[in-house]
Amino acid sequence: MTAKLELIDNDYNEELFTEVLKDVKQRKGQAKFRKLLLTKHITCALCSVEAYHTRASHIKPWASSSDYERLYINNGLLLCPNHDYLFDKGLISFGESENILISRSLSSSQRMSFNVNEKLCIQISEKMEKYIVITINLSLNHKQQA
Ligand SMILES: [Zn+2]
Repeated sequence: MTAKLELIDNDYNEELFTEVLKDVKQRKGQAKFRKLLLTKHITCALCSVEAYHTRASHIKPWASSSDYERLYINNGLLLCPNHDYLFDKGLISFGESENILISRSLSSSQRMSFNVNEKLCIQISEKMEKYIVITINLSLNHKQQA
């Protein structure tokens, strides 16, 4: 009888709940932004992963973009999940010469695992350059604050 009571008490143990209700501020227009990028690209901007498996990544971060920039196709790249993660975390970026910039904090084995090396480059249109420069400046500011 005691064991059964303990079991009932455990049913109400909050640590056992695996879901919680939350208020969430959700991005609006992200799907539209991705569809726009899909009309222009068929693979990840850095590798051969098919566009279907990519994510729409903003060159100038969403948080600091205007409403117009958040849906502007030249402020975006289609990146596979690995490359999107690295770009989002500031571990890779792009120079004006279209070459990839790789953080020194990524070891050579991590670079191999994430499929990044100095030979990778992206095609940057004239309209994208403005956002690439902004990203480089944001990265530099971020490093100076760290
Ligand atoms: Zn990729």
